[in-house]
Amino acid sequence: MSAGPHSGPLQRLMEELKKLPGIGARSAERIAFHLLKADRRDTAALAEAILAVKDQIRPCLRCYNLADGELCNICSDPRRDPGQIVVVEQPKDLLSLEATGLVNGLYHVLMGHISPLEGVGPEDLTIDALIKRVRAGGVREVILATNPTVEGDMTALHLGNLLADTGVPVTRLARGLAPGSQIEFANRAMLEEAFRGRHQA
Ligand SMILES: [Zn+2]
Repeated sequence: MSAGPHSGPLQRLMEELKKLPGIGARSAERIAFHLLKADRRDTAALAEAILAVKDQIRPCLRCYNLADGELCNICSDPRRDPGQIVVVEQPKDLLSLEATGLVNGLYHVLMGHISPLEGVGPEDLTIDALIKRVRAGGVREVILATNPTVEGDMTALHLGNLLADTGVPVTRLARGLAPGSQIEFANRAMLEEAFRGRHQA
């Protein structure tokens, strides 16, 4: 490692911070100096929180959302409607949809999308588990909320075909979302429009 103008530990912290998304050299320096001045208890709490995320968060056994137990907060909430399953690509999409307050059902996180270019096939996603959930019964509607991108559309098409013979109605978010946009970055109004306007897949 190249020797910077700062002492070893400080330099090391900045190198680690720079690996984080959206953190450049200037921000890394600012955060590092902030931590240097901060109370030792606060910095210990931050370090522990980072490790706890790595040690305790795992996929929900039912929907693959992030969970700190066997089931995520949503699956373990008895007020949620198990008859509705909203299928998303990643946990961040789930959070965006949750923020609209429109979803009272459960989710299923695919952990990605089908992408031949990236070598991701249906078998790399949690599709089998989704089909099993739907076949287990009690589901009235499956809402496909994959991104309106080439990969998201391809994934939705594949899921629609697989789910067709389950007899459960499958809907897809409306095109309130611009093609090529991503659910995680969509604003609330756009998501609401897309969710309310969902149509048969
Ligand atoms: Zn869950």
